[in-house]
Amino acid sequence: MAEIKLSGIGVSEGIRIGKVILYTHSVRNQQFADISEADVTGEVNRLAEAKARSIRETEKLIEQAQQTVGAEKAGVIEAQKSILLDPTFCPEMEKLINKKLFSAEKAVEQIVNQVVAIFEKMPNEYMRERAADVKDIGSRLMAALTGVKGINLGDIREEVILIADDLAPTDTVQLNKKYVQAFVTQKGGKTSHTAIFSKTLGIPAVIGIGAGIEQIQDGDTVIVDGTGGICIINPSEDTIRSYSEKMAKETKDESVWQAYAAQEAVTQDGHRIEIGANIGTAADARYAVEQGAEGIGLLRTELIYMAEASLPDEEMQFNVYKEIVRVMGDKSVIIRTLDIGGDKELSYLKIPKEMNPFLGYRAIRLCLDQKPLFVTQLRAILRASAYGKIKIMFPMISGIEEWRSARSIVEEVKGQLRTEGRVFDENIQVGIMVEVPSVAVMARQFAREVDFFSIGTNDLVQYTLAVDRMNEKIDYLYDHFNPAIINLLQTVVNAAHAAGKFVGMCGGMAGDPKAVPLLLALGLDELSMSATAIRKVKHAVSQMELTKCKALLEDVLKMSTAQDIRLKVESFCENNGI
Ligand code: PEP
Ligand code: MG
Repeated sequence: MAEIKLSGIGVSEGIRIGKVILYTHSVRNQQFADISEADVTGEVNRLAEAKARSIRETEKLIEQAQQTVGAEKAGVIEAQKSILLDPTFCPEMEKLINKKLFSAEKAVEQIVNQVVAIFEKMPNEYMRERAADVKDIGSRLMAALTGVKGINLGDIREEVILIADDLAPTDTVQLNKKYVQAFVTQKGGKTSHTAIFSKTLGIPAVIGIGAGIEQIQDGDTVIVDGTGGICIINPSEDTIRSYSEKMAKETKDESVWQAYAAQEAVTQDGHRIEIGANIGTAADARYAVEQGAEGIGLLRTELIYMAEASLPDEEMQFNVYKEIVRVMGDKSVIIRTLDIGGDKELSYLKIPKEMNPFLGYRAIRLCLDQKPLFVTQLRAILRASAYGKIKIMFPMISGIEEWRSARSIVEEVKGQLRTEGRVFDENIQVGIMVEVPSVAVMARQFAREVDFFSIGTNDLVQYTLAVDRMNEKIDYLYDHFNPAIINLLQTVVNAAHAAGKFVGMCGGMAGDPKAVPLLLALGLDELSMSATAIRKVKHAVSQMELTKCKALLEDVLKMSTAQDIRLKVESFCENNGI
């Protein structure tokens, strides 16, 4: 059979070659017979037993998930348990058995399909992805009823590449990295928990490859490239050879980088830059420390909100922040206040659809408008500041008035806590993200008032270049080496330093080893990135000489196209062992 190349979203880095094991959730094309009046009690009892068994299994999975991906993420499986306990979900099935003489299987199938259809039609991507949770519960109930278990993912004991129509969070947490080399799914979005878990577990993954997945058969050989978002079915010998070389290089690089985890990032001529991690949970914090994080440069608190079905209250948030601070010890933790909107939605906030959500009602704009929500979060953050080195950071600031309003609410909340006799860090630092060009342009004025800056290149690039960061058609224009970006970065760093303020970077550019020479030369104080990039970036810093990087920057600042800069930087990196 000829080689077939399928493209999807690479959500967890790494290349693997191996034999396919197919996994499907749905019990497809089965006809379940109806029952007679006399069978009703028996069917209702079968359903009750299947429900009880499914609850027991789910509880076991929650325990397992707590060990593998951490308590907060295990909360997603708790949500599945609550579907089983929902006052209408199973009772509706029972009604179908009683009133329409459905078999238990047919009743499960009907209700699960109905609920899945409701979720799949929701306008909100996050809620649409929750359909996978309902399907997962449906399969569990069906397996308990039919005794047909399919593959038990946790029992896989040979090296395989898992190919699935969809993987629910409960599936993903069961995967043993030693055996499941990589996985590919037909469905799934960037915000699915499957994507988040695969990164946490370090299993290379490509998701959302679409209908092409049907061409893959059990036992086929496939190559999964989690970095490039590619899956190749029945690769030719030449393709296998070329990917084997890439894999060997990855392994070699990994062993080189490993040594750098525990070291500080220092250039050959003695210039040190702080390396932090971008995280969303306490489990991420633990992993980040293992990878060599010297602090948390960005805690994306929206991930905490997104994992909940309703607004997380002060106590819940306080406990999460406190746990993260405990994990980080004396290292600093920058907590970014809620950055919802754009591509990140919270169904329970019921924000009307907008024409340009990235330019709309989001992040700090929403928090200033919905003050009680903002105050709750600030109270939780400030209370946690009694336990470690916390800094507060506001996202999406676009004007100085916005900054001042948000800053004054922090003071107001401090006042409340003082009155209540609560302990918190009176001198807590408060800073902003630089991700809107207006702030970069006005950096000198902001620098007089803020305690620190962190540059968010993911948004700064999209706003400066007017290139939607979600649109693959114009992806070629989205480049952090664009001269407009390099010039803006220089403006921000110089303005911060002229005022004696700390300036870090937490956008994706900070985790790009090839950007390291320019970022060192620009004089950033800290780079914060996904934990998996830390060792690579520390290694890149260790190969550099600051004086040479400065000369490179001088040349780059004279250039006018992103392509020229990229070529120049890439050749510089190559000459310096990156
Ligand atoms: C950024 O915009 O660079 C950033 C770090 O924030 P996010 O990716 O969460 O928008
Ligand atoms: Mg951003």
